[in-house]
Amino acid sequence: MSDNKEKKTSNEEKYSMETHIIYGKNETNKWDYSHHVTAPISSSTTFRLDSVERGAAGFMQFANTTEHGDEAPIFIYDRLGEPNKDMLEENLAYAEKGEMALSFSSGMGAISAVLGILTSTGDDIVTHNTLYGCTISLLMNWYPKYQISNTPVDLTNVDNLLDAVTEKTKVIYLETPANPNLDVIDIQKIAEIIDKINQNREPANRINIVVDNTFATSFCQRPITLGADFVIHSLTKGIGGFGTDMGGVVVGRKEFRDRLLLYRKDFGAVLGTKSAWAILTYGLPTLPLRQRHQIQTAKLVSDFLEKHPKVEFVNYPGLASFKGYELAKKQMIDFNGNFAPGSLVYFGLKGSTPEESKNIGGKFMDYVADNSYTMTLAVSLGHTRTLIEHPASMTHSVVPADKLHERGLHPGGVRLALGLENPDDILLDLDEALKQL
Ligand SMILES: *Cc1c(COP(=O)(O)O)cnc(C)c1O
Repeated sequence: MSDNKEKKTSNEEKYSMETHIIYGKNETNKWDYSHHVTAPISSSTTFRLDSVERGAAGFMQFANTTEHGDEAPIFIYDRLGEPNKDMLEENLAYAEKGEMALSFSSGMGAISAVLGILTSTGDDIVTHNTLYGCTISLLMNWYPKYQISNTPVDLTNVDNLLDAVTEKTKVIYLETPANPNLDVIDIQKIAEIIDKINQNREPANRINIVVDNTFATSFCQRPITLGADFVIHSLTKGIGGFGTDMGGVVVGRKEFRDRLLLYRKDFGAVLGTKSAWAILTYGLPTLPLRQRHQIQTAKLVSDFLEKHPKVEFVNYPGLASFKGYELAKKQMIDFNGNFAPGSLVYFGLKGSTPEESKNIGGKFMDYVADNSYTMTLAVSLGHTRTLIEHPASMTHSVVPADKLHERGLHPGGVRLALGLENPDDILLDLDEALKQL
């Protein structure tokens, strides 16, 4: 890097994380681009190696963090590592307060990788009941083929862990707030319980806690600081922020980096360089700005919905009436120490039966799809545009109708992912759409 690196080294004491997140670590040995302000896009799948000796050194260095982790990288081939991904990973680890981060082609790529390195045939994964639909599908439809089982329990009561954990348990996996019902789970308490259990286990047999932090984003919550071993994100959502690129990341301790690198190399779910660049350049630096706006809007929208006579329930961690409110206030804290309850709202409309409230929800969303300028019927979240969807028939359609309740889903539940519009305009459209029912 440039000569003035010394002068411009990031100083966590002096500046706020919001400023740091724009500059990243502001010191990298991943690439020399001292005369650019914005990192250039690397678009080379393979790298010139000068000599066989340099090639051999590159292969020696790869996935050998203990011996070569701090050296400037010798790039070989995109699937092993390249500048844009490597810089994004440094900055994601920094934002999430983890020792290292490794990027993947999607959130599901990241989830498969972390579970892939932590489990083998015969193991069990304990999860919260409510999870993203494709994560449920991964655990229900694929892992049984390798005799890896899944025990879903209600982790909003952490004592349920004591019955769920057996000799076979290797991973506790959860989302908080959970997709889509926004259940909030006490990460610190789970870590205390698991720490105790781990004291009687051999190091290789220890249980790891994995938290999917996609809904909160690194801005609202940093699970590693609360005792989680790993955080995963779908970068496609709030961190990517603009709805243009897919991506995923695993953040955790350095000791796991090499196994994750080898897994990524061989299973191949590698993040595209151009997507890495977009997330590094646009997504991560604007995360605090976007989240702050979306949180304000989510609060206004949930206050409005809660008072509306046609609304049966509203789940939002920022509502005093929400069952996870007190815990959220403790756990969901932004870079500046403020309560940051996230940008998603889950609500249901009144009906005399679950079937009726499902039909009314469907009618409401169809009206929104046709008429509401500020709300788009689409899956995904954390974008510039407000997105609305029906989890039971879309993101969570893997859950059969008779299992919805068990999985914490309301048959008519509506998921609203706030965007960057003026909140008054969203309230106007919501009011109009509710009038049609
Ligand atoms: C979308 C999502 C995922 C999967 O991410 P992709 O990037 O779509 O693969 C995982 N977890 C949660 C909570 C999500 O919302």
